[in-house]
Amino acid sequence: MSRWPPREFTIRARWIVPMRGPPLEGGRLRIRGGRIVGLGGGPRRHDDLDLPDAIVIPGLVNAHTHLEFSDVGLPLPADGGLPAWIGRVIELRRGRAADDERLSAAIHRGLEESASHGVTAIGDISTGLPVGGYPARGPRLRVFREALGLATASAGSVARVAFRDHSSLLAAGVAAGLSPHAPYSVSAPLAALLAGASRRLDAPLAMHVAESEAEAELLRSGTGPFRDLFDRLGVWQPDGASLLPAADWITLLARGPRAIIVHGTFLDRDENAMARLVRHRSRLCVAVCPRTTRTISNTLPPVRLFREAGVRVAIGTDSRASNPDLSVLAECRTLVDAGLASPEQALRMATVDAAWALGFERSCGVLAPGRPADLAILVAEARHACPLDAIMDPATRVAATLRGGRLIAGHIDPDAARCGLEP
Ligand SMILES: [Zn+2]
Repeated sequence: MSRWPPREFTIRARWIVPMRGPPLEGGRLRIRGGRIVGLGGGPRRHDDLDLPDAIVIPGLVNAHTHLEFSDVGLPLPADGGLPAWIGRVIELRRGRAADDERLSAAIHRGLEESASHGVTAIGDISTGLPVGGYPARGPRLRVFREALGLATASAGSVARVAFRDHSSLLAAGVAAGLSPHAPYSVSAPLAALLAGASRRLDAPLAMHVAESEAEAELLRSGTGPFRDLFDRLGVWQPDGASLLPAADWITLLARGPRAIIVHGTFLDRDENAMARLVRHRSRLCVAVCPRTTRTISNTLPPVRLFREAGVRVAIGTDSRASNPDLSVLAECRTLVDAGLASPEQALRMATVDAAWALGFERSCGVLAPGRPADLAILVAEARHACPLDAIMDPATRVAATLRGGRLIAGHIDPDAARCGLEP
């Protein structure tokens, strides 16, 4: 096989689904120097890379994951709901504390796995920076440095570490942000420091909010399974924790340039929080992780409620500690199968809306002239009349993934006009 891709080439596919304008049957996509320079139809030309079975879509965007757990083979057990699962995550993390090599290897593995699923951009929640930094090749990254702690006395030192890592990321050329972990794990003084920094540093935020009924109980009365967990861990504060309700958090998150509310599973029961989310929807969006929510909370996110309220909804996989893989398309299929989104809506959540969530709306999410050539090439097993149905068919596979016109997963054999993940 010759060196592929060259600097300039044209892909002709059965379908091109640009997510801006309708799908193009027999569409042609021209790429030069890593950017899209032409998009349209027309007859096949002799030097086109002709892929008659392929569907080309914008590179998928995973709005929420934790790459540090990408080496977890099977999701941790979910019995006992979120508090019990969080307890298992803490145990897992303690067992691996200070294993820098392992953290780096897990992150690399997660990036590779994501690329193999057609993903070209990722919103990662990070608890520490990998030695050697993030690889330049592979999916684009927005890394949100996480911060948490119930002890008000240590809020300043926790925040300082997060700010230090945030500025190290920026210095290394990585798009960065901050992540207050969740309303049940971040004290009010730490919340104020993080929200203030978001505004001052123009740093986007991402935060797990309204993920469980246990969270609401802790915030309401200071009791329940989270209280039991915190007592067991010895982190509950002697004079009670100073925690903020979801509604106050939403107001704080809206102070910065942009924020992702991760999950939002139980926002349909919190009128006040929902009203504030709607009020600030020009700066806020929700990232849902359907398979994780189904596993841990036994339900699916209230996607229709958000959509009807005009709130952008992006899609994420969450981590391999709660999900069997990092496939964004599998998340889309879960929503479609449950009747919560049409194939077109689900794909929009995983491209256009997830790109917006990460602040990448100018670089990815659609196929359009002038944009970087971030795309996934899919091959359907069955013959579908509609490309969106073909994309949502679980038998359809990702054959190759390109970021900026370069292959980051799979392969394309231009002579045989074939592509695939197998060598
Ligand atoms: Zn998460």
